Amino acid sequence: MRYDYLIVGAGLYGAVFAHELKKAGSSCLVIDKREHIAGNVYTENMSGINVHMYGAHIFHTSNKRVWQYVGQFAEFNNYINSPVAVYGDELYNLPFNMNTFHGLWGVKTPEQARRKLDEEIASARELLGDGEPANLEQQALRLVGRDIYEKLIKGYTEKQWGRDCTDLPAFIIRRLPVRFTYDNNYFNDRYQGIPMGGYTGIVEKLLDGIPVRLGCSYKEFRAECEAKGSEADTFAKILYTGMIDEFYDYRFGELEYRTLKFETEMLTGVENYQGNAVVNYTERQIPYTRIIEHKHFEYEKSPDTVITKEYPGKWSKGDEPYYPVNDERNSALYEKYKELADSERDIIFGGRLGQYKYYDMDKVIEAALDAADKEIEGLM
Ligand SMILES: Cc1cc2nc3c(=O)[nH]c(=O)nc-3n(C[C@H](O)[C@H](O)[C@H](O)COP(=O)(O)OP(=O)(O)OC[C@H]3O[C@@H](n4cnc5c(N)ncnc54)[C@H](O)[C@@H]3O)c2cc1C
Repeated sequence: MRYDYLIVGAGLYGAVFAHELKKAGSSCLVIDKREHIAGNVYTENMSGINVHMYGAHIFHTSNKRVWQYVGQFAEFNNYINSPVAVYGDELYNLPFNMNTFHGLWGVKTPEQARRKLDEEIASARELLGDGEPANLEQQALRLVGRDIYEKLIKGYTEKQWGRDCTDLPAFIIRRLPVRFTYDNNYFNDRYQGIPMGGYTGIVEKLLDGIPVRLGCSYKEFRAECEAKGSEADTFAKILYTGMIDEFYDYRFGELEYRTLKFETEMLTGVENYQGNAVVNYTERQIPYTRIIEHKHFEYEKSPDTVITKEYPGKWSKGDEPYYPVNDERNSALYEKYKELADSERDIIFGGRLGQYKYYDMDKVIEAALDAADKEIEGLM
């Protein structure tokens, strides 16, 4: 059969693009190397609890178009992300706000908190001097002082990156927002929530009526097409949401990522394990960065619970690439691949892997809608 588009990757980017192009009258075939659709936003129902299989996913956006768009495919609840941080025997609210300052210093009013924070920053700056921060530790100390850095930033960041904060570049932390209100809402966006029934349902609806082949990598698919010769399906264009360096057989070298391991457990007979969806562990000695208790995302009633421990790790080929490492080396390398990609007439690279970019869900939807609009304009 002759299709207009081969879409590689059934994640949010691929699914939104396919949906829009189908609506505009184009034919699409979607393939994905995984055995399921939805990419990293995939949720699986375990005993009535929707489990975020690739880490906690909270939808938040200030883009009304995107909020209305996802609203066509799911009803969102009123979940507000309010993580808790555990440091030894101490518990703190995040993001840094009056609750955190009260827990740290016993202060009650914004004025007291501001004064204490200013003192912390001043004494850190006195020690460090006026020069440019030489590393992430110095940068964090200048921004929030020693207490917050030691208890809530240092260990967590070191686990995330697998390196000491003194060996990490300062630019990783540009700002550390603090709030002088008793507001534990992690995000500042206008809209926030969790799709009731899980994210997989959204992608199912996006892909409704579009043929999807699972468990099939682009390489395998190509080999299959070559073997079939003139009998093979053909495509006018390709949307590729896999790794851009893999697409080009790593001809300039490998882009670097950080990976995560997820350890998911069903706790039978435990109704409520930690009382919150997201609990961060900020000490370096504890190997995981956070524990997610999935039932709290959708306020599910169940006699059991499911938790996931998240362990960051060094990525090597074959591991799932979760976070791009946008340092100088990788940015320069990506630019080389991008130059090649820009010269392609019939291949579009999109999504977090195709563009080597950390994308929140709303941004990925926005980018896919823009790319689809551009294609559809070209069709007219
Ligand atoms: C731990 C974690 C937590 C996150 N939490 C949030 C959050 O709270 N809020 C938020 O807004 N965003 C969050 N995100 C970001 C969110 O996951 C992404 O925005 C979204 O998944 C990106 O969609 P995508 O389609 O670009 O990529 P993906 O979801 O990765 O989809 C790409 C698909 O392509 C397939 N593929 C890759 N290569 C090939 C190939 N060669 N052949 C065939 N198929 C291939 C993959 O199997 C995958 O299914 C989080 C991300 C992570 C890693």
